Amino acid sequence: MSGSPVVAVVGGGASGALAAVHLLREARARSLTLEVVLIDRYGRHALGQAYSTADPHHLLNTSADKMSALHDDPAHLLTWARGNGLDLAGSDFLPRGDYGRYLRDVLADAEDVPARVVRRVTATATGLTRPAGGHGVRVELAGGEWIDADAAVLALGNRAPAAWPQIVDADTPRYVADPWAPDALAGICDGTPVLVIGTGLTMVDIAVTVTRARPDAVVYAVSRHGLLPRRHPDPLPVPVPTPIQDGPLPLAGLLRAVRLAVRDNGGDWAGVVDGLRSHAPGLWTRLSPADQRRFLNLAARFWEVHRHRIPPVTAARIAELRDGGRLRVLRGQVIRSTAAPGGLHVHVGVDGAVQVLDVGWLVNATGPGSDIGRDPFLARLIEAGDARPDRLRLGLDAGRGGAVLDAEGRSDGRVVTLGPLLRGTLYETTAIPEIRAQAAAIAPRLIETIAAPVSVSLTAEPEF
Ligand SMILES: Cc1cc2nc3c(=O)[nH]c(=O)nc-3n(C[C@H](O)[C@H](O)[C@H](O)COP(=O)(O)OP(=O)(O)OC[C@H]3O[C@@H](n4cnc5c(N)ncnc54)[C@H](O)[C@@H]3O)c2cc1C
Repeated sequence: MSGSPVVAVVGGGASGALAAVHLLREARARSLTLEVVLIDRYGRHALGQAYSTADPHHLLNTSADKMSALHDDPAHLLTWARGNGLDLAGSDFLPRGDYGRYLRDVLADAEDVPARVVRRVTATATGLTRPAGGHGVRVELAGGEWIDADAAVLALGNRAPAAWPQIVDADTPRYVADPWAPDALAGICDGTPVLVIGTGLTMVDIAVTVTRARPDAVVYAVSRHGLLPRRHPDPLPVPVPTPIQDGPLPLAGLLRAVRLAVRDNGGDWAGVVDGLRSHAPGLWTRLSPADQRRFLNLAARFWEVHRHRIPPVTAARIAELRDGGRLRVLRGQVIRSTAAPGGLHVHVGVDGAVQVLDVGWLVNATGPGSDIGRDPFLARLIEAGDARPDRLRLGLDAGRGGAVLDAEGRSDGRVVTLGPLLRGTLYETTAIPEIRAQAAAIAPRLIETIAAPVSVSLTAEPEF
C-alpha cells in the first residue's frame, strides 16, 4: 500500500481495534486509502486484556444490548450473535471470549482490501518520536525495527497492577504479579490454596476458574474493605436521574446528592449509579484536583462495586463458593510473605490480629497500576516532552478528541489516545460504551488532520 496514509495504533485491545474500525470506516466514507498498523505486544489483536480469556465462565459484566462495538448501530452485537448461531437476548451476559470473537469479526469486516487494510503486528512498542521538520510519527519497536506513520493512536490500556516490594519480590516463584498477562493463571489451578490480593472483578474471575478446575481448591481474597462487586438486579434497573447543583462541585455536595437520590429511589443504588454513569466525565472535571484525589481514596471503591456489577449467574456461583467455605473473603491487608516449600507463608492483618496463611499461590489482583510513569513507552514519551501526565498521573493529559498534549499543553492532532489512558481526565473511560464513542469521535478528526497539507497547533478542553 505504498503512498497510502498510515496510522499506527499502539495497543491492540478493544480500544485499538475500535479506533482502527472507525478510521477505516471514515476513510471509506471519504474514498481515501488507508493502512492501519495495529501493534500489540502479545498478539491479542482486538482481544486485549479483557476478551482474550478462554474460560467460558468468564462473562461480560454488561448485558448484550449495551455492548455493540458500533456507536451508531446499538443492535450490532445481537445481529452478529444471531448470524453466528448464538441464542443471545439483550439482557444476557455473553462469555467474554465470544465477545472477543465478535470484536475480531468487526475489525475484519471494516477492512476493504486493498484500499483500506489493517496490518497486525505483534511487537512491543518502545517509543514514539516526532521526526524533526516532518508531520509524521515514528513508532519504535523492541528489536530495533520501526514503523513510520502519518499519525498515531495510543491505546495501551491499563497498566499492570502496582508492585508490592514490601510484601513480595516480583520474581518469587508462585507469585502472579500480573493476572492479565497471557497464561498468567495457567499454573494456579493445581489444587493448592490461592490467595488473591483484591476482591474486585479479577478476583471473581480467578475464584470461578480455580474452583471449577479443582473441586477441592480454596481461594482466599483479601482487601481493605472486603467489598465484592454487587450483583446485577434481575430485571435490570431503570436508570434514574440525580439532581446535582450547577457550578463548582465540592465532593461532599456530590456525595450528598447521590445519597439523597439513593434514598428517594427506595435504597436502590443500581438505578442511581446507572443514571449517573454517562454524566461521570462531566462531574469528574467539575471536581477540584484535591477532591478528585479524595474521591479515589475514599469513595471510588464504593462507586466501583455498584458500577461494575456481576451477572446473576456469577453472583450465585460466588455466593455458593462462600457458603461452602471455598471462597474466604478477608477484610484486612497482606503484611508480608515468605517463600515456603510448594508455596508461600503469607501474613495477613485482619481485625488487629495477624493470620498466617499457607498458600500455593499469591495473586496480585489489586487493579490497574496507578502511575503511568511505570510504563517504559509512556515514560519515554513524557520524558521527551511529547506528552504529559494528567494531574493525577493516572494517564495522559488530552484535549479535544483525545489529542495528546505535549509538555507545553499543545498538540498538532497527530497523536491521540482513548480508553483507560484517559482515566485521570474523564474517570469513566474504560468500558465499551465509552470506548466506542471515543473511537467514533477520534476518527474524523484524525483523518482530516492527516489529509490536510499542514498541521495546526491546538489546545483544548477534554471533550469527546
Ligand atoms: C476482566 C475484565 C472484564 C471486563 N468486562 C467488561 C464488560 O463486561 N463490559 C464493558 O463494557 N467493559 C468491560 N471491561 C472493560 C473494558 O472493555 C476493557 O478494559 C477494554 O477492553 C479496554 O481495552 P483497551 O484496548 O483499552 O486495553 P487492553 O485490553 O488492556 O489492551 C491494550 C493492549 O495494548 C497492549 N500494549 C500495551 N503496551 C504496549 C506496548 N508498549 N506495545 C505494544 N502493545 C502494548 C497490551 O498488551 C494490550 O493487549 C472489562 C475489563 C476487564 C479487565
